[in-house]
Amino acid sequence: MNLPDMLEAKKRTKDKVDFIYTNPVKNDFYVGKKYFIKTYGCQMNVHDSEEISGLLENIGFERVESELDADIIILNTCAIRENAHDKVFGFLGRCKHLKKEKPDLKLILCGCMAQEKSVVDEIMAKHRYIDLVFGTHNIHELPNYLMNLHDGLNIEVKSNEGNVYETGETYHRDSKYTAWINIMYGCDKFCTYCIVPYTRGKERSRKSKDILREVECLKEKGYKEVTLLGQNVNAYGRDNESEISFAELLREVAKTGIERIRFVTSHPWNFTDEMIQVIAEYPNIMPYIHLPLQSGSDRILKLMGRRYTKEEYIALFNKIKKTIPGVAITTDIIVGFPNESDEDFEETIDVVNKCQFDGAFTFIYSPREGTPAAKMEDAVPLKVKEDRLHRLNEIVNNYSLMNNKEYLNKTVKVLLVGYSEKDGSKLYGYTETMKLVNVICDENLLGQIVDVKITDAKSFSLDGIVEK
Ligand code: SF4
Repeated sequence: MNLPDMLEAKKRTKDKVDFIYTNPVKNDFYVGKKYFIKTYGCQMNVHDSEEISGLLENIGFERVESELDADIIILNTCAIRENAHDKVFGFLGRCKHLKKEKPDLKLILCGCMAQEKSVVDEIMAKHRYIDLVFGTHNIHELPNYLMNLHDGLNIEVKSNEGNVYETGETYHRDSKYTAWINIMYGCDKFCTYCIVPYTRGKERSRKSKDILREVECLKEKGYKEVTLLGQNVNAYGRDNESEISFAELLREVAKTGIERIRFVTSHPWNFTDEMIQVIAEYPNIMPYIHLPLQSGSDRILKLMGRRYTKEEYIALFNKIKKTIPGVAITTDIIVGFPNESDEDFEETIDVVNKCQFDGAFTFIYSPREGTPAAKMEDAVPLKVKEDRLHRLNEIVNNYSLMNNKEYLNKTVKVLLVGYSEKDGSKLYGYTETMKLVNVICDENLLGQIVDVKITDAKSFSLDGIVEK
């Protein structure tokens, strides 16, 4: 349960991983009972919530869309940013009042925050109205925990050793057209600002045969697109000598014939030529890559423990652009890492100007307790960081708009996945290059890949009309 220091965590990466196959079964006690789940954070958490929902539905629970109607409320939490903590405890505070009206209501907290010792200490001291806390390594045990819940606070947080659990196709997937597939868990990169290696544990790859079976099963059910998920997908297979590499896995998934394949996230370090070749070779592997830069300064990249230089990043970027026709590349950038100087920041701007990304997720650095970077002195005032972020965003958004304008009057393939939030008479979907498009079309086309002529381009989305 303790947040291990880096040395202990690195030792743990050598531990053996077991593959455990589980099969949750229906229990009459839960039939008709209702659950509400709220998810914070990244795609990994979204997909974990699909797994939690599937487990609960398999044993008899039904999902509800309001916490007011629920018998159990689950918060699947994120530890990446400080403000997530306040949101979670704000929501829990409101749920505490619900318990007064509904004494049998159970409150459950899980996800990355549950793996943080400081959070568990806080819960034990101040939030004992929570019924169950469980971590990221034992999601599959939720049915057992519910069965054996004793009165008061139950804490079921495992240390970070981690195994690979296969629960079969029991996910409650949010979409009927696109699906997340975990290909691996955890991360061994230990970037100095990142909490993930501590909350998600060491890298553990699923067996390729289990992943391929899942892809086949989704294809049979009519899914059009799968996204292979991992904190660092290009490390796939490296923890298991008998497993194939990520490039080989991509090739095998492409051979299943599923219409669209995506993957997130890939680290620029160890992004092999073979991966680039495979993406270029198979038309059903989408020409879109999210390639986190984080900083353009070699000094800051070294302090971050990112394992590449500015020059290496740009060389990789150019190689990808040259080899994969029409590829779109987006990135992540952290502004205001401890003691980032004006010169360091200008190096980041220089990379942005050279790469002209299709989009970027930009953040002000937020220290996470237990990580090496949180112990670094930082003399840069917040106002300076905010000004840098503002300037960066303006530049990034201009490049997004410039790239999006390239699509004007062109016809592109769009997978329509839902109703547009701004205008319910339109559908929205994504191009092969992951551009969001709001489309005027017949709603019967939902779930189809259609030809769309682009009529307008903004920084964050395109508008279009279906071609007859
Ligand atoms: S590679 Fe990504 S998940 Fe892993 S430590 Fe670095 S930032 Fe965190």
